[in-house]
Amino acid sequence: MSHFHYRQDELFCENIPIQNIADKVGTPFYIYSYAALVDNFRRVEKAFSPFNPLICYSLKANPNLTLCRILSSLRAGADVVSGGELYTALLAGFLPEKIVYAGVGKTQKEIEFALKNNILLFNVESEQELVEIAKAAEKLKRKAPISIRINPDIDPKTHHYITTGKKGNKFGVSFETAERLYHKIAQTRTFEAKGIHMHIGSQITSTETYLKALNKLKDFIRKLQDCKMKPGYLDMGGGFGIAYEEGEKELCLEELARQISLIFPEDMHLILEPGRYIVGNAAALITKTLYRKEEGANKFLIVDAAMNDLVRPALYGACHRIIPIQRLSSKACEKVSIAGPICESADFFLKNVDFPGVVKGELLAILDTGAYGFSMSSNYNSRTRCAEVLVKGDKWWLIREREDYQDLLRGQRVPRESLWGMNISSTLSCNVQFWKMEGTGNDFIVIDNRGELIKERAKIASCLCQRKKGIGADGLILIEEAKDADFTMRIFNPDGSEAEMCGNGARCAVRFAYLKGIAGRECIFQTLSGKILAKLSDDVKVKVKMTSPQDLREVDKLNIDGKIYKGYYVNTGVPHFVLFLPSSESIPIREVGAKIRFHEFFHPQGTNVDFVQIEKDRLLVRTYERGVEDETLSCGTGAVASALISAFVHGLSSPVTVLTKGGEIVVWFKLSEDKFSEVFLEAEANIVYRGNLNGAKYV
Ligand code: PLP
Repeated sequence: MSHFHYRQDELFCENIPIQNIADKVGTPFYIYSYAALVDNFRRVEKAFSPFNPLICYSLKANPNLTLCRILSSLRAGADVVSGGELYTALLAGFLPEKIVYAGVGKTQKEIEFALKNNILLFNVESEQELVEIAKAAEKLKRKAPISIRINPDIDPKTHHYITTGKKGNKFGVSFETAERLYHKIAQTRTFEAKGIHMHIGSQITSTETYLKALNKLKDFIRKLQDCKMKPGYLDMGGGFGIAYEEGEKELCLEELARQISLIFPEDMHLILEPGRYIVGNAAALITKTLYRKEEGANKFLIVDAAMNDLVRPALYGACHRIIPIQRLSSKACEKVSIAGPICESADFFLKNVDFPGVVKGELLAILDTGAYGFSMSSNYNSRTRCAEVLVKGDKWWLIREREDYQDLLRGQRVPRESLWGMNISSTLSCNVQFWKMEGTGNDFIVIDNRGELIKERAKIASCLCQRKKGIGADGLILIEEAKDADFTMRIFNPDGSEAEMCGNGARCAVRFAYLKGIAGRECIFQTLSGKILAKLSDDVKVKVKMTSPQDLREVDKLNIDGKIYKGYYVNTGVPHFVLFLPSSESIPIREVGAKIRFHEFFHPQGTNVDFVQIEKDRLLVRTYERGVEDETLSCGTGAVASALISAFVHGLSSPVTVLTKGGEIVVWFKLSEDKFSEVFLEAEANIVYRGNLNGAKYV
């Protein structure tokens, strides 16, 4: 029984009247039935049970996180075609050893990502891709699990846009090429031949098509086995067709499984990659009639869903059944076309069909839209993407929020120079993206300010850094243009003052610039204390070259309330006063630190203060920071100052590990004839979250 059904002329999804949900979430929206999703998966599992197959759900059909989580909890594997799908699959709980990765254009970055995550295998689509995989495998010192995607030259007789296993398609390789590649794999130690793959198309309803292709594959496998090659997995892809129209037949899985069992090679493990079959009929797109329009003999129902929400009719000429949410059998039928609001003549769901006389405001359900519905949706005509809802029995949840207008602007920037000569102040939108980052316990708001969207830097720093009325941070970092460097880092304290440099902040800036494509893994950036060299030492660790220390001197008579403190002053980009204690735990840092920081000896610029305890060959450091006017969890330039002074006074050698309350920092340096050079600081720079400053003060 369909999980979308009428009860007394009202359309329900499982046990919920769809109208009730529409009243709360508005239209258009996709509505998914939990029971339909699970039933579909179980049907595939049952039909193929004699094979005990690995069923890799094809995420391209619908990568919604909740749906994926449900499927991973049913022990499904995943078929992915991009780094983004792999990321989603991992997040959704699909086990890496059940993930297969196809696609004709895998990038080096995507391949490395997959290798690092130990996926089951790559379905390789060309000889050059194999070369790229080898490169990544050698770099990461891992064996790459390979399966070659064969193009068996079979015509599945579906729409030509969803035919993928015919000569002339861009997918897979011919048997001749595949044979050569398997020999290459056998000779290369970086590869492991795991399987053989095909995927001949989508919406296939005849078992014969699969059998033809499998028979060809079987002959080829025999040939490989004669050459002592034994790929263990036979992946026959997805493509199982469903019934979209009244009376249409879907692929008979049981029959397909029965026929395959007669030819399936012994001792091979079957992989299936169904997408459409699992989610296709598990959803409807609910839309509202906006207008009835009559032009001569032509009648139109203009609805609020459009081709940006569901592109299949426009792209493939696909037909989805459309039914009203409130069924009124008394209503006479009329010939209408059902169209969306987009400015394209292709924006139709149905053309000239007999449809009950629907009036403005009534809701319609476009059926069987779970596969390639939301996943192919776009923002065309600047339309926000719609909401998604999951129903389970008599419960329902919003599983994706409807986008709003600000989402349409996400990531966009308006470079000042591009508007040169125009009055731009009123034309800029207030949509500034920020990242909240953290480096050993110092937290920062980082913004790409190359277009100078933020001009009132000091004001916005003090506004955003406030813990209760802002985002809350130890500083605001603005990444700006630089003349002879990759970028400029400007860093502002919560009181609005601008700091010359900050080691922890610098690491966040470098990782931010790398991930945003502003700089490479190695870069040079400008600060108020000069140019700085840095590199990413792994995915999250950044090593920053610090300015060589200046003005190192002993300060032996600092009188604080009658007590004499002895320590060392050094400028490591910003001024620091370092003093050694038997235990850094017991000192009231805020009180003592403030007194030293404002001591007349350090006037006018003041100083940061580092309280250092030497513990074997590492340091425990606590820092009072000028500008923050309190102890922070760590301070990069303070860690450097403490390490250098410890080397100078107590003979510690490079690298020195500094433990702060915010984490571990490693300091490298060279010391010769009392002079320091090649000073580097290395530690993590983490992303906490990203957000948008919509309507923030001063932006
Ligand atoms: N596997 C591969 C490699 C695909 O390209 C596709 C879809 O194009 C699928 C599986 C899923 O196909 P379907 O949703 O028709 O089952």
